Amino acid sequence: MRRHSIAVIPGDGIGIEVIEAGKQALQALAEKSGELDFAFTDFPWSSRHYREHGHYIPDGGLAELATFDAIYFGAVGSQDVPDHVSLWDLRLAICQGFDQYANVRPARVLPGVNSRLQGADRIDWVIIRENSEGEYSGNGGRVHRGLPDEIGTEVSIFSRKGVERIHRFAFDMARSRSRKKLTLVTKSNAQRHGMVLWDEVFFEVARDYPDVETDRELVDAVTTRMVLKPDTLDTVVATNLHADIISDLAAALTGSLGIAPTANLNPQRTFPSMFEPIHGSAFDIAGQGIANPVGAFWTAVMMLEHLGETTAAERLMAAIERLTQTGVHSQDLGGTATTSELTQALCDDIRRQAT
Ligand code: ATP
Repeated sequence: MRRHSIAVIPGDGIGIEVIEAGKQALQALAEKSGELDFAFTDFPWSSRHYREHGHYIPDGGLAELATFDAIYFGAVGSQDVPDHVSLWDLRLAICQGFDQYANVRPARVLPGVNSRLQGADRIDWVIIRENSEGEYSGNGGRVHRGLPDEIGTEVSIFSRKGVERIHRFAFDMARSRSRKKLTLVTKSNAQRHGMVLWDEVFFEVARDYPDVETDRELVDAVTTRMVLKPDTLDTVVATNLHADIISDLAAALTGSLGIAPTANLNPQRTFPSMFEPIHGSAFDIAGQGIANPVGAFWTAVMMLEHLGETTAAERLMAAIERLTQTGVHSQDLGGTATTSELTQALCDDIRRQAT
């Protein structure tokens, strides 16, 4: 029996509903395989927990989390806690504390999902987001608070080490895919320091990957290319801010924010990696049982791949595709199915398959 310890942080809003759905899917897979087991430990680190205790992660919390094989994360964000507090005190505390510098976001249209974009069936992208520095390094400050001459600065950090390691990761990803094509997203025309370093290091690293075709696109131009010529992109590497934005666009182009998964990887495996759907806590639909769990299911596929459970990952992905193919969808995709109906359908399908 192969046993994996999973730290589960459902967090806020629909994170709680979709992570429960994902756990049920993983449990169904484990029971079906008979040789795989998940030991889930739930952590109640949410915005409610913050309001009651004054912190998201308690003292010693990160050290405890470090003992797990992987982290399965829902969403953080609440109407009662400023977003920059909830994000930095929970999600970014884990990403930065565990040096999860590579954020991986696959995007493609699943069978039976209606994308409003013509040619969307040709979307098959992996967006690699630098996840440890850049525009979200937290470097800056505010002076003269509340006065008319108040100033706030937000300083991007691009270190040679940080830039090189994400570009190498992106080249390795591109090399592992059939098209072996990598697009560098940049804004080095307007930002002439850190972004120029970002570009220079990319082309230095490219020399070690002669088999990977490269091109370079400004971030504004890449949005039009994603919409108008989706098949000209394959693997894409972008900074923390740029990839944050273009991966939401990618999710929308492939049908819904409710579908898209992401992995925050510590490629050296010194620390556990964290897996989460890309959507947030979605308070407009939280607590109603109607959130789309597909993003959380696909996230579980990425977690299984990282854990080396390739067969289980393939089985779960195939079950997700059979589910979307049926045309039974949640409301974000134009259907009426609830989170639990979709979860039940997926788990029943997993149980029905031959092993
Ligand atoms: P946060 O501030 O935590 O990022 P948010 O509510 O601003 O959250 P998202 O949760 O990312 O933003 O989603 C924006 C909208 O997309 C939601 O309000 C919701 O209507 C829709 N949405 C996102 N995820 C899902 C899902 N899994 N199922 C159905 N609809 C979803």
